[in-house]
Parts: sequence; C-alpha cells; structure tokens
Amino acid sequence: MKHYTHYIGGEHFQGTSERYSPVFNPSTGEQSAQVPLASKSEVENAIAVAQAAFPAWSATSVLARSRIMTKFTALLYEHQAELAELVSREHGKVIEDAMGSVLRGIEVAEFACGIPQLQKGEFSDNVAGGIDIYSMRKPLGVVAGITPFNFPAMIPLWMATMAIITGNTIVLKPSEKDPACPMRLAELFIEAGGPAGVFNIVNGDKEAVDTLLHDSRIKAVSFVGSTAIAQYVYETATKNGKRCQAMGGAKNHMLILPDADLNGVANALMGAAYGSAGERCMAISVGVCVGDEVADKLIELLTPRIKALKIGTSLETGLEMGPLVTKEHRAKVMDYIQMGVDEGADLIVDGRDFSLEGNEEGYFLGGSLFDNVKKDMQSYAQEIFGPVLQLMRVQNFEEGMALASDHDYGNGTSIFTRSGAAARTYADRVEVGMVGINVPIPVPLAFHSFGGWKASAFGDHNQFGMEAVRFYTKVKTVTSRWPESTIEADFSIPTLK
Ligand code: NAD
Repeated sequence: MKHYTHYIGGEHFQGTSERYSPVFNPSTGEQSAQVPLASKSEVENAIAVAQAAFPAWSATSVLARSRIMTKFTALLYEHQAELAELVSREHGKVIEDAMGSVLRGIEVAEFACGIPQLQKGEFSDNVAGGIDIYSMRKPLGVVAGITPFNFPAMIPLWMATMAIITGNTIVLKPSEKDPACPMRLAELFIEAGGPAGVFNIVNGDKEAVDTLLHDSRIKAVSFVGSTAIAQYVYETATKNGKRCQAMGGAKNHMLILPDADLNGVANALMGAAYGSAGERCMAISVGVCVGDEVADKLIELLTPRIKALKIGTSLETGLEMGPLVTKEHRAKVMDYIQMGVDEGADLIVDGRDFSLEGNEEGYFLGGSLFDNVKKDMQSYAQEIFGPVLQLMRVQNFEEGMALASDHDYGNGTSIFTRSGAAARTYADRVEVGMVGINVPIPVPLAFHSFGGWKASAFGDHNQFGMEAVRFYTKVKTVTSRWPESTIEADFSIPTLK
C-alpha cells in the first residue's frame, strides 16, 4: 500500500497530523493507498513557504514565466499517458476518457504560455498636458485551489497554471479520494524548472480547507466541488476578505425537439449521460422530450444501448464505463434510484443489479433510465452524479426551456434540433451558463472560459481563459507626468484639459 505525502517547497513532506484517509481502487474495491490529512499548522507552513516564494516569482519576467510554462506543457504531453493512468486507477473512469481529461487540462497550460500577450496592460498617451495613464495587472500573492474528485488532472491544471502564470504562488488542496495525479503535476512543474514553493500541495479535509479560508495570507480561493461546500467556501472566503470563485454541482438538461435526428440524439445521450459513469459536472442527466413521440422513440433507441454498455475495470481499453469512485458514492446513487421509484417515476432500465464477474467488490453500477420524471420530484431537484438518465415529457419548446431555466442548478444545457431559430432562441434565453447546440457536453476550450450560473457557481469570474487572468490579478493604474516646468497649485479636483 502506498503512503502519500504533501508536496511543499518542492519536497515531499510526511504528514505529522497522524490523520489519514484511505484511497481505493474503485475497480477492485481494494485500498491502494493512504493519504495524510494536513493539520492546521501543516497548512500554515505550506502558506508560509508559498509566501516566501512569491516576491521572486512575481518579479520573474513574464517571458521567463512563459518559458517555464512551455517546458511544463511539454512535460505534461510527455507524461500524458502516465497521468491518465493515475487518474483512471484512483477515479475509476476508463483510460481513454482519462487521457481526454488530461488533455483538456494541458490545453489550459498551453493557453497560459501566451501570458505576455494576455497580461499586457493598457496605455493612454498624453491624456492631457503631457500626462499618460497606464494600467497593469498585478498578481495577488498566495492563492488557494480546492478541487473535487472527478477531474484530478484537469481541474488542478485549470487553477494551478493560471494562478502561477499570472505571478502568484499556490497552495492546492486536491480531493482526498484521488490524490496521486495532482501530486505528479506539482513534481513535473519543478522538473520543468519551476521554482520551489510556487506550486505546493497539501492533502487534507475540512481542517485544511478551513485553514486556507481563514488565513489572511491567502488572497484568493478557487474552489470546484458540490454546491453545499461551494457556498460555504464562497461565504467564508469572502467574509474573510478574499476573492473567491466557487463552482458547484449541476443538473444538466438536454432539450430534444421533434425535428432532431433521434438516432444521433440517442448516441449523444449515451456518451453524455453514462460517460465517466455520470460523474461529470457537465454530464447530461435530464433529457427533456418535446412530445410523447420523441420520448417513446428515444426509449426504444436508448434501452438496448444502455443494456449493452461496455462496463469494466478502468485500465482496460475499449470500454465505455468504469466503476464509481467509492462504495459510499455508489450507495448514494442507488438511493437516488430508489427515491425516483418511490416518487413514482418509471424505471425503464435498472442498473443496480450490475456486477462485474471477477470484480464483484468493485464499485460498479449499470446504466439506469427513468421516464416520466416530474418537476416536483426530489430525485429531479437534486444532483445524482451517477449513470442515471431521467427523461421528462413536455408539450412544447417553451415548457422545455422553462425546466432548464427554473432549475436551481445552471451549469450546462444543450438543445438538439434542426431549427436554427429554435436553437438561437434557446441559447439566447435559457438561464444556464454554458449551452450546446447539437453538442451534448458544451465544455468551452481553454481560450474561452468555464462557469455555470445560479447554484452551479458562486463569484464573478469563470475558470480559465481571460476570466482567470482577471481573477488572479488586480489592476493598478498609474497617472504619470514628467513636467518641463514647475507644477502650479490647483485646489479643485484634477480635471484634465
Ligand atoms: P465535494 O464538495 O465533496 O469536495 C470538493 C472539495 O471540497 C474536496 O477537496 C474536499 O476535500 C473538500 N471538502 C469536502 N467536504 C468539505 C467540507 N465540509 N468543508 C470544506 N471542504 C470540504 O465534491 P466532490 O464529491 O469531490 O466532487 C463532485 C462535485 O463537484 C459534484 O457536485 C460536481 O457537480 C461538482 N463539480 C463541479 C464542477 C463545476 O465546474 N461546476 C466541476 C467538477 C465537479
């Protein structure tokens, strides 16, 4: 069994808290490692190390920072398969999917390499009488990143690359469920020539998070996880004077109009609902069918595909779905399925009896499909985060759009139709942060930005893209004059002529 450490100032550091969390291989159900849970003083030590590294790193020229990020990006590509294996082993998502998720993180590192252009300031020449005004984007100091279990490469890379490239130093607290990959990322940063203390990892739980949220040396907190914790993190961080972006849970609707190619819709739903066993914040968990004919036909198309899902251990190739992350999470998803049944929804495919021969202790579930899910059901109101697709029937476009708009969550949504007008209206009016048009999982690329609305995100700035440059920097504006003659006294507010 492996014993993980913290990674502070470029060195592995054995925890001294004597508190540990077990890490499992979800495919077998065996414990593969234990991870130390940092104490308050250990987190404070990491913050001190990050703070000591800040003056030199923030003064490092933007080109030098960019060159380190370029080298880091090259190493990430070189180690993509290794990183994907770490993800797959501890998270349970199948290896091809893990490769893709690592790539989506590397793309943010690639974007960050363009920082000389991205962090350029503004300059107004001779606004009056030889006075120039310029503004600069300055780093904040030490920032914290707190990440969820479901993307242990991609989300740490969203935060760490953008925080570091803008001149900050970071203390990252990854999920205790799959800590291997984030640790490797921080090691590769050092290998790329990154200075010690710029990218630090503390493993931990609430104690570590609370220390980050209360310590005055932490200037900004970026969080991704479930809504209840996102809200807590946002409220606590902002109360303590920190900048905070906190992304939460999701319930993503796909609106299916009668003119859509239903065979294509069924294919799109398979990947979007059951890929990564539904443990994606952009998974489609609700299919909204306009008209009974659409719903009946989709059930006919989906049912055999769900029953034929290729499910197996995460490192096997050619599979469609692996296990869920933990035994507890699997039990929670099963409870939601029972809740749906008890609430009166029709369970068309029940994935609860699935078991993988030879791996009976793995945290596997088959795909489940519900029909006739209603707006007032708790199983609809809440995020299930598993391989469960809920179909709803509506009479028309407006009723369908209202479901997505009125739901508490507002992360992503998609519409499948051949009508440009309907798609445009949906994209324009739906109360959701990310919209796909005939694209089931509309995750924007690194040069745009990622963020939901309503209970799916707290705070003003999205993840990555220019939004991250803004989140991780503060603007300083300088008004400057080099007078050729003596400056005269002026008692009224300066107005430049
Ligand atoms: P989680 O909220 O349980 O954990 C997220 C982080 O918070 C972890 O690092 C965890 O250690 C920490 N944490 C847990 N409980 C805490 C507490 N009481 N106090 C302080 N910190 C605590 O989330 P998870 O189960 O790891 O991830 C799944 C969730 O993340 C889902 O809800 C999913 O929708 C969401 N998610 C959202 C996005 C997005 O961008 N909106 C992306 C990925 C995942």
